[in-house]
Amino acid sequence: MNGFHRHPETQAAVLGGFPLSEVFRYQESGGPIYAYDLDGIEAVARAVIGALGERAFVAYAMKANSAGSILRRLASVGAGADVVSGAELTLARRAGIGPRKIVMSGVAKSDAEIDLALSEDIRAIQVESIEELSRIEARARAAGKRGNVSVRINPNVSIDSHAHIATGHDAAKFGIVRDAWPAVLELAVRSSSLCLVGVSAHVGSMLRNFDAYLASAATVCELARAWASHAAPLEFVDFGGGYGIDYGTGEVPPPPHEFAARAKDLLRAQGLGSLELIVEPGRSLVGPFGALVARVIQSKVTHARRWVMINAGMNDMIRPALYGAQHRIEPLERSPEGQSWQVVGPVCESSDDFGRHDLGAEPPEAVVVRDVGAYGFTLASEYNGRPLPTELFLSAGRVVSSSQSPGAEAWIERRLRA
Ligand code: PLP
Repeated sequence: MNGFHRHPETQAAVLGGFPLSEVFRYQESGGPIYAYDLDGIEAVARAVIGALGERAFVAYAMKANSAGSILRRLASVGAGADVVSGAELTLARRAGIGPRKIVMSGVAKSDAEIDLALSEDIRAIQVESIEELSRIEARARAAGKRGNVSVRINPNVSIDSHAHIATGHDAAKFGIVRDAWPAVLELAVRSSSLCLVGVSAHVGSMLRNFDAYLASAATVCELARAWASHAAPLEFVDFGGGYGIDYGTGEVPPPPHEFAARAKDLLRAQGLGSLELIVEPGRSLVGPFGALVARVIQSKVTHARRWVMINAGMNDMIRPALYGAQHRIEPLERSPEGQSWQVVGPVCESSDDFGRHDLGAEPPEAVVVRDVGAYGFTLASEYNGRPLPTELFLSAGRVVSSSQSPGAEAWIERRLRA
């Protein structure tokens, strides 16, 4: 069975058919362990790709989780990538993703990153300002190339989400605002060093319904149609990602394949069915298929609070500290029930706090943090001299690959050399 579930008899935590209590056997040094269900990831990607149909592709937002095992699995079912740095671009290429299925986003690409994108001949550099378009034009001209660009517009759509993950409103640093669209078009069609191939938008993350996504997509379509009449026939429109997932907070967003199906319907309804459609989901492809297993170090009980202290901290999983995100934290070997405890990590910051969770009268030996497949490991750091966690990749109920923690000694040596 894909994803997280509990063994029907023992109630022990299971991910993709693999009993999570066994993760410790695959670890070479200490620390918390991420486990990922590759089959679950593949199944969701297939569903999204199926809903998009012909003339479309998924550009997986690999910032969500850039593990090679995940990229290769997604590439094997036909996914491309949305990259936000030169390193991500090179990684995507080496993981087997073809250049025609790669788009590059990001508000401040360096000259070296632009040059790399040009030399790899990727599908499009997503331009986020007129200033950047001029820089791409100059780099392409100097290299004697024609750069494929897509204009990432800011559709001025607000979403009901955390301020740090809302990107499509006028005050956000992302995308090109409406006033600048004519100048961008002029430069893009006038220059023989640029080839305008698409229009894109991304309104933000954790969308709970279709409203903002479709409003933004309609604006993208409106512009694509208007530009076609200015001798700028495009190859594609890109509606971005942002599909929410169920973090167990009571809000259950629609599944990602429904976002994809609605996107395709909208494109057809707008009379643009001949254009290729790109979508950029990240979280929804990987988030539910990752679990972080941590040992309980100790409890601490005072007259004010009862804490359970685990060996995973904000350096391993920063979403609660960064966005106030809530993740279910449950005993590894039994269902969550009984007394609630304040779960905290060992990092010397008061924001190293994962919230209150029902762990029982006595704290368990180990816990599982659920739905951490996206923006978990990729945001991890070595703060407080804590080495990056181990990652295990599961398929058909067994471990098929791993990335071991570099361990404390590697960190000590590097800092000594600094
Ligand atoms: N596309 C762009 C341009 C993004 O900035 C992001 C996330 O920040 C995504 C896609 C993916 O968003 P999500 O992981 O919420 O699907």
